[in-house]
Amino acid sequence: MPGHVLIIDAVSNRRIHLRAQLDTAAYAVDLADTLRDGLTRLQHDPPDVVILADDLPGLRLRQVCKALRANTKTQLTTIVVAVARENHSARISALSAGAHDVIDHHSDASDLRARLRNFMRIRQTTEETQHQKQGLTTGLAEARQDFTPKTRASVIATGGTKDMTTRIAAMPDDSGVRAHFVTALSARRTPDPETDVFVIVESGSGPDARDLLGALLTHPDSRHARILFVSDRGAPAASPLDLGADDHVPHSVTPAELAVRIGRLARRKQESDRARSAARHLNELAYTDPTTKLNNRQAMDAYLTRLDRTLAEHPRPLALLIADLDHFKAINDNHGHAAGDDILAHIATLLKSGLREGDFIARYGGEEFLIVLHDVGPGQARSVAQRLGNRVAATPKRIEDGPHVRATISIGLAHASRTDRLSTRALLRAADNALYLAKGNGRNRIEVAGQQDFERLPARAVDAVTQGMT
Ligand code: GH3
Ligand code: MG
Ligand code: MG
Repeated sequence: MPGHVLIIDAVSNRRIHLRAQLDTAAYAVDLADTLRDGLTRLQHDPPDVVILADDLPGLRLRQVCKALRANTKTQLTTIVVAVARENHSARISALSAGAHDVIDHHSDASDLRARLRNFMRIRQTTEETQHQKQGLTTGLAEARQDFTPKTRASVIATGGTKDMTTRIAAMPDDSGVRAHFVTALSARRTPDPETDVFVIVESGSGPDARDLLGALLTHPDSRHARILFVSDRGAPAASPLDLGADDHVPHSVTPAELAVRIGRLARRKQESDRARSAARHLNELAYTDPTTKLNNRQAMDAYLTRLDRTLAEHPRPLALLIADLDHFKAINDNHGHAAGDDILAHIATLLKSGLREGDFIARYGGEEFLIVLHDVGPGQARSVAQRLGNRVAATPKRIEDGPHVRATISIGLAHASRTDRLSTRALLRAADNALYLAKGNGRNRIEVAGQQDFERLPARAVDAVTQGMT
């Protein structure tokens, strides 16, 4: 079912006209001929889209929009107002009163249906975003928004559309929309990443605006921007909305309506930018250990799984180190748990800053760290481990209102050459054995896993099968 539409209009032939357009497209259509009847239906069986005639007796559109938004049942219902053709002031007042879109009473069927499909898509993404926000951002403060950022619109006129250029330049100053004009070629090659809304103006003679639409939808610098398509080309050409544009207006659009539509698209874009960055932030949190700011255990597991896959295809030498703080329990006992945390964070920083870019470090357990060194020979891996151990031992940490505390680490190291084909899990166990040895041999030292540590360990292929990773 494509969706449920309610038409509220006192004029019967207009109701019937609209219904005929939608019936063939399998929409479930309800009709109401008075505002009162329409509002009752909205309450009892909320539609996806409501189309209201602007001349409906008793209609106070601003109030209706506000009431629908405030009600959880109808807050996602798309509000469309039908006005007389070319009634520009009615269009603007409907949009400013809070309608999502404006159509003509005698709208063209293909345009109307494309708009409805677009509303359904927007509704779906809005629902998803709201869902994500509720599920993910619980407990996270929303970024404060003290000002409404100015909207940056890039206008790309793809043909001889001087008239359109003039209209765009005539957008009201107080609209907050700043337009700048770019050529189709530069928009295609290097779309401005700061642009909120691209306006593509299609004209018969210019290069293919629809192709440009496709290019902007996929370019990494423009794919999150919104696109307003200006064209008069009707059926049988596909509606720009079905090709991915976010809004579509004819060339006859007024500067005021353009400004309102661009402003809205920009707000929607900024809203989804915020949702995306909140999701990214949460993702980071989910994979970061709060005390040390290093990768946590989950991040480590995911990393090792990925690494095994990569190494199965492109074997390379690598070393895996487990570093464990010496007598950390005594540090906690002597200086308190909070001081222990500070020391843990201090050592994490020392270790991390001693690594090359591309190496990996995670907090493996309580006071243990896992380090992966790539493309190293056994001698080189050992000297890196030695350097890390020396650095920790030589850099005491002053605890708050207290003395300097010197901590040391013991390291177990396991190395695999390109031809060893050992899984990272096998290396992990070997490194753990070596760590045990380092502790037994006096701590603050490094032990390297020898042949005996690898014995009884399965080769990567076998290991991978047992873990269901092949
Ligand atoms: P060893 O040299 O043999 O490794 O001795 P150890 O005392 O470091 O080892 P043990 O495993 O006996 O104790 C580890 C201690 O690390 C005990 C635990 O309270 C402490 N620890 C684990 N996680 C944290 C943490 O997040 N913060 C603090 N402050 N201490 C922690
Ligand atoms: Mg320890
Ligand atoms: Mg330990």
